Amino acid sequence: MSDKSIENREDIMEKLVSLAKRRGFIFQSSEIYGGLSAAYDYGPLGVELKNNIKKAWWKMFVTDRQDMVGLDAAIIMSPKVWEASGHIKNFTDPLVDCKKCKRRFRADHLLEAVPLSPQHDKEKPIDWKEVKCPECDGELTESRSFNMMFKTFMGPVEDDASEVYLRPETAGGIFVNFTNVVDSMRMRVPFGIGQIGKSFRNEITTENFIFRTREFEQLEVEYFVHPDDWKKHFEDWLETMKTWCKCLGIKDENLVLAEIDEKDRAFYSKRTVDFEYKYPFGQKELYGLAYRTDYDLTQHQKASGLKMEYTDPVTKEKYIPHVVEPSLGVDRSVLACMIEAYTEVAGGRSTTTESIKDSEVVMKFPYALAPIKVAILPLSKKETLTPLAHEVYDAVRSKFVTMYDQTASIGKRYRRQDEIGTPFCVTIDFDSLEDKKVTVRDRDTMEQERVAIEKLVEYLVSKFAAYEKC
Ligand code: ATP
Repeated sequence: MSDKSIENREDIMEKLVSLAKRRGFIFQSSEIYGGLSAAYDYGPLGVELKNNIKKAWWKMFVTDRQDMVGLDAAIIMSPKVWEASGHIKNFTDPLVDCKKCKRRFRADHLLEAVPLSPQHDKEKPIDWKEVKCPECDGELTESRSFNMMFKTFMGPVEDDASEVYLRPETAGGIFVNFTNVVDSMRMRVPFGIGQIGKSFRNEITTENFIFRTREFEQLEVEYFVHPDDWKKHFEDWLETMKTWCKCLGIKDENLVLAEIDEKDRAFYSKRTVDFEYKYPFGQKELYGLAYRTDYDLTQHQKASGLKMEYTDPVTKEKYIPHVVEPSLGVDRSVLACMIEAYTEVAGGRSTTTESIKDSEVVMKFPYALAPIKVAILPLSKKETLTPLAHEVYDAVRSKFVTMYDQTASIGKRYRRQDEIGTPFCVTIDFDSLEDKKVTVRDRDTMEQERVAIEKLVEYLVSKFAAYEKC
């Protein structure tokens, strides 16, 4: 029996996508109509996993901290917000088309796939005639800017006056509420506002399952600091984000912190560190940490004519706070968490007397994040066991997300639960009727313990507490 790690296995994405669909984690959107590309629906287990991740983030980044508060701003905001923030002008990606096969590429991504010759002078503009389409070797167009914001219309008349945007990042809602939050909550700098919500980007190319989609969810903090203190806070958030990655189950060796060059940074950032993850399809961004200076508040002050200043209650110094922004994606968190959890055990695990020859999949989610926490498995469907099994199910369900499964052999049922990462399986057998005890099996150690039914919930609570990382 050996656990295979993900590094050597390029086929993991295919297996993961198939497991995600088969076991109710993630489905292609609008599948019955042929699907909408790069749009996904989270199924019954996916939504549990996603909610657990969001809850854990909210706890670690917001409610566990005295210097943080939360917000839930509207997705559709006044277009003036995006004009002031510079998104209408600058939130663009460079786009090139192939003249022959008509495929469309994001220019910077294309250059990663088809690097320029080492002799190319980096300071010179790229002559796109020298680069060929990686799909058909055709000639490419010149690069041009493409704004990634989705437009829609507010109200019944489709004219310019009613044109609005779906937010491309949740941050905008935080900046425009800065003074509301300071005034209503008496917050003192340094403090931050956290928000979880959907964002929309009309990405030129979408790729790799839920890695890059046009509708996605973000977990963002805008942390307001004195201009002299940003470096210290930047380092603090860097550490918090590293701890968060551990909570998701990400191994140190799969995470790379990359300092982003000025030319590659977002237009509002003076320093960015990307948290890159070694996905099976390559090392790419998982999260970003940016120093946004006083850019956003200053822009909103200019555009709205309202003061965005903060007055220090002790020194009476007046200033526009600077901002450190840890920006995380929910969907990339789910993806990284699933990739890390995916474990294949060649030859199976000796969970039962049945001989299992195929390899077995165990989703080793951190226990706190597992979508289903406990499975109740009566050994037999016989009526004599059912009432007691239901009694146990009702007791456990009041505290944990629990699944009841009485079909198929116990070995098969253990495998089903392992495949969705359920930390504890509780079996009720005929002895349970006499001794009022059940057998609890731990997903990772596979140890089995006989536990009194009246102590079961307490036992499970203590087990989860012992495993809890975040
Ligand atoms: P990329 O370089 O991959 O396009 P970005 O640098 O534009 O990402 P940010 O603007 O820093 O991304 O957004 C913050 C976070 O939001 C990202 O680190 C990522 O987790 C998530 N995110 C951004 N764009 C997408 C997307 N299209 N699909 C899924 N998640 C996304």
